[in-house]
Amino acid sequence: MASNSELYLMNQLLNLEGVKVIDYRIIEGIGIILSLENTQKKVVCPNCGQTTELLHQNNFQTVRDLSFGQQLVYLKVNRRRMRCTHCQNKFTEKLEFVRRRRVHTLRFVERIIEEVLNSDIKNVAKRNNLSEQEIETMLKDLGTDLVTEKPVNLKKLGIDEIAVVKGQRNYYVVLVDLEKGKVVGLVEKSAPPALRSPQRKDGASRTSSHRKTAGLGCSSV
Ligand SMILES: [Zn+2]
Repeated sequence: MASNSELYLMNQLLNLEGVKVIDYRIIEGIGIILSLENTQKKVVCPNCGQTTELLHQNNFQTVRDLSFGQQLVYLKVNRRRMRCTHCQNKFTEKLEFVRRRRVHTLRFVERIIEEVLNSDIKNVAKRNNLSEQEIETMLKDLGTDLVTEKPVNLKKLGIDEIAVVKGQRNYYVVLVDLEKGKVVGLVEKSAPPALRSPQRKDGASRTSSHRKTAGLGCSSV
């Protein structure tokens, strides 16, 4: 069992709202595993808006967080199933730092997307001990979020693309606010069959012009 001063330090390093470290383990070849406890006893019912403290079921899951030095960090979190004492609705509480049904913290996802923009999916996956599929899911989630978000004070727009190495067929068109260095739009694109073949003499130039058009088409956000 960890001492209080160790836990205090761990909490300072973790720096996440709504949870605290109650124990930790370092497993060789895997990384640091922090066991977390929810600090809020009361949870707001999404159905009626009242708070409830009635626990229906514990639901422990492991979520990947930002690495600490060379060590990978995993958080053991409890996504509690609660029962509302007012309307009897049963629901899973929402954690601020991780999406529903996802196993990476939001700040970890943010870091990975930054890396992907400067590299490619295959290399980032390898470097971070992730699958290419996992990174694609992160990009798709981001794209879904950005559809409803409107960029504010956008002055310089940059267009980039992220190739999906595995299939070669799909790629992502990314719109970046160059002043803020922030992604403001992300669309998954599929190249038409005629543009996929690298054997065609004019393949390269046609592919690039197709991609440019696709990017410009999205710049009206
Ligand atoms: Zn309720």
